[in-house]
Amino acid sequence: MNPQRRRTLKSITQIMGLVSFGGLIWSAYLAEAKDNTQMLFPPAARDNFLSTCIKCGLCVEACPYYTLKLSSSGIKGIPFFTPRDIPCFMCEDVPCVVACPTSALDKNLLLTNNKLDITKARMGVAVVDTFNCIAYAGIQCDACYRACPLIDKAIYLEYKSNTRTGKHALLLPIVANDICTGCGKCEKACVTEIASIKVLKHDQVLGKMGTNYIKGWDKKDEERLETAEPQKKKDSKNHALDYLNEESL
Ligand code: SF4
Ligand code: SF4
Repeated sequence: MNPQRRRTLKSITQIMGLVSFGGLIWSAYLAEAKDNTQMLFPPAARDNFLSTCIKCGLCVEACPYYTLKLSSSGIKGIPFFTPRDIPCFMCEDVPCVVACPTSALDKNLLLTNNKLDITKARMGVAVVDTFNCIAYAGIQCDACYRACPLIDKAIYLEYKSNTRTGKHALLLPIVANDICTGCGKCEKACVTEIASIKVLKHDQVLGKMGTNYIKGWDKKDEERLETAEPQKKKDSKNHALDYLNEESL
């Protein structure tokens, strides 16, 4: 092989090596970031919390209940909490958010009439495991319901007849997804061996209805009909012909 060709091949191999090494670092970073995204962050954490938090730990120090810890896995130093150990106590003065020197914990997300309102926090959403919750098995339990700081709003009890016994009532805990703050006091209080109510991140739980459906009983939602643009119907016959004429076939 002539020396010029050998040099070219060598530099191509080096570049490919660098690219794949860079790819490895990037995928390791993504794996680490993913680790953190499963965690529950303090109240008012921004959407891009992982990249705006400077890991100073001031929110951790400010929490009077020792709820917050700094992560030792994934991107290290990110504040998070584990409700089954210590939930968020939803302090009215929200000291963790006030202590944050950047806008990683963004006060604006909690403001109502210029005042901090912790009920606007959306740290996650509680989900009931109806298979292991003893209330669904017909045993009386309302521990999670009673523990909730937004009792009868974020969580309420639904009465149902117990078809198994035919004479008792079931008292079932139901979470209102739009009001639950994700504080995790219900998860902490749950009496089952592993909590049958857990707080998860919104994107792990919630679906999206999209704009195709309008709730006729919701005045605000129905107003969308007035501004809705009619959608052009596709000519399915022409579409089929175009498809058949494509060169790729
Ligand atoms: S996480 Fe549980 S305790 Fe906290 S607001 Fe939601 S339902 Fe209530
Ligand atoms: S505390 Fe646990 S077992 Fe009891 S009703 Fe709530 S979820 Fe079910």
